[in-house]
Amino acid sequence: MVPVKKGTSSKKGAAGSEKASPNDYWQRKLELDRQGIKLFSQTIYEKWCKSCGICVALCPKNVYEKDERGGPEIARPDDCIGCRVCELHCPDFAMSISERYPDRRGQRRHD
Ligand code: SF4
Ligand code: SF4
Repeated sequence: MVPVKKGTSSKKGAAGSEKASPNDYWQRKLELDRQGIKLFSQTIYEKWCKSCGICVALCPKNVYEKDERGGPEIARPDDCIGCRVCELHCPDFAMSISERYPDRRGQRRHD
């Protein structure tokens, strides 16, 4: 029989609760840092975007797919290398790229 220390409990391992703990998060962050991998977030300001499709066409990593209006849909956020080609070529300043933590993704903003 395995002795159990009094007063200790584990949030992991309980049936049906595979929720990532803060420890898992920082392990992932440290692992990425060790490998020199940076992750980036894409923010699209929907009200400014005129759906010209320039960002979709120019992205070297195919991060975007065209949505029904021809604008960008963030399809592969983890493939972004942060080159900022999309941000720099957007004629309406509707795109923003920033480095992010592992638990964040790109977003579409309506404001
Ligand atoms: S920063 Fe570069 S790789 Fe990332 S979405 Fe924009 S164009 Fe694509
Ligand atoms: S380049 Fe700018 S305006 Fe054109 S589709 Fe992309 S985000 Fe919208």
